[in-house]
Amino acid sequence: MSEAKGKSAVIKMYAAREEIYPREAKGRYATIRWACVWITQLVFYGLPWMNWNGRQAVLFDLEARKFHIFDLVLWPQDFIYLAALLIISAYLLFLVTAIAGRVWCGFACPQTVYTEIFLWIERRIEGARSARIRLDRQGWTVDKIVKKTSKHLAWGTVALWTGFTFVGYFAPIRSLMGAVLALSLGPWQWFWIGFYSLATYGNAGWLREQVCKYMCPYARFQSAMFDKDTLIVTYDRERGEPRGPQAGAKREGKGDCIDCSMCVQVCPTGIDIRKGLQYECIGCAACIDACNTVMDKIDLPRGLIRYSTDRALSQHWDARQIARRVARPRVLIYTALLAVIVVGFMFSLYSRTPLKLDVIRDRGSMGREVGDGMIENVYRLQIMNTAETAHRFTIQVAGIEGIALADGGVAELDAASTRAVPVRVQAARGAAHKGSNEIRFILTAEDDPSLRVTEKAVFIVPR
Ligand code: SF4
Ligand code: SF4
Repeated sequence: MSEAKGKSAVIKMYAAREEIYPREAKGRYATIRWACVWITQLVFYGLPWMNWNGRQAVLFDLEARKFHIFDLVLWPQDFIYLAALLIISAYLLFLVTAIAGRVWCGFACPQTVYTEIFLWIERRIEGARSARIRLDRQGWTVDKIVKKTSKHLAWGTVALWTGFTFVGYFAPIRSLMGAVLALSLGPWQWFWIGFYSLATYGNAGWLREQVCKYMCPYARFQSAMFDKDTLIVTYDRERGEPRGPQAGAKREGKGDCIDCSMCVQVCPTGIDIRKGLQYECIGCAACIDACNTVMDKIDLPRGLIRYSTDRALSQHWDARQIARRVARPRVLIYTALLAVIVVGFMFSLYSRTPLKLDVIRDRGSMGREVGDGMIENVYRLQIMNTAETAHRFTIQVAGIEGIALADGGVAELDAASTRAVPVRVQAARGAAHKGSNEIRFILTAEDDPSLRVTEKAVFIVPR
């Protein structure tokens, strides 16, 4: 509150949200966005139902601590691959943003995709933009109650199915469906289905552009990845101004913008791109589609609003000149780094042996004499068969002349399983020096000798 000449004035620090009713845009970019909606949602909803080698193709089994991704089985020890995947995704985002701005936000981000689906439902039930505005402003009638109830039921159904599908990536989805139908879900399953459903319903149905404007950190730091050659959605001020009704060919000295406000009406974040690039712009290109439709109608060339770059606008470049600036140092550095990480990741994944061996010495017993001048050490071998097939393994020990296992020597493991195998190892006292001696355990699959690992251990000879 401020006071001047005895009068007080209230300065509001909070601006109430103005409801946005985006008009439906039709055109090339709307088609691309819907293609992205279909592709991402077919993958998201369909993948957990796909089977592979007799089990769910993609299953992040937290209880068993195993991630199944088609033929690949990742264990907690393979966390490095998940970390590498996250690094690759981050670099890919940097690279794409440096070249094409916020295309991820405008076309493939889940917030955009689900808002698009929820808006589609809203339009089918409540009608086009003007009908929705009228409906919200009128009092509660039977028609309004029916429409609002139908919309929220449809939104709720999509949200619940989304929540269910999400949990289906972490628990076998067919059993999960059985448990849902029998109302016998566990508390955590109820919680996560409910949580993810509510998040979808709230974010896509109610919060919408507010998620992009106030909650998503990407909008805040993306400008650090932009430069004068980054593709952005731009309004060609030189061509469009001075704007006004019936501008263009019919009015001498006027620009091509007829101030129809179609570009503003289709904008899902409610901004006017004619004011220049704003952080609220998610790069969805709906305003390009809208303006191109207007230009077609008044018989002016398309592209008053278009994808361009700061530099291209100021220097009047065409598409070919813009394309030439793609291969600039920042992009080349991002690409090189990304290529190195991807190649390293692929090579490491390809050359990874689906077999792991950890040797744990029995700390309770040091080396001991067992008669006939033999020394014995006891170990526990933790064997991990990360392959999708069962194997029978031969266990050998080497490193000291005459060293051998006193028992066992074989271990059978099911597909994607672990097993602890206790072994006793013996060597003649005279074959090793007193104290610690380095030895090796060698594990070989009987049906596939190339499946083999070696692990070092210490054999102790008492003094
Ligand atoms: S849609 Fe095109 S012509 Fe209409 S106001 Fe926007 S920029 Fe101007
Ligand atoms: S200004 Fe255009 S590109 Fe940016 S969010 Fe609005 S409609 Fe999408």
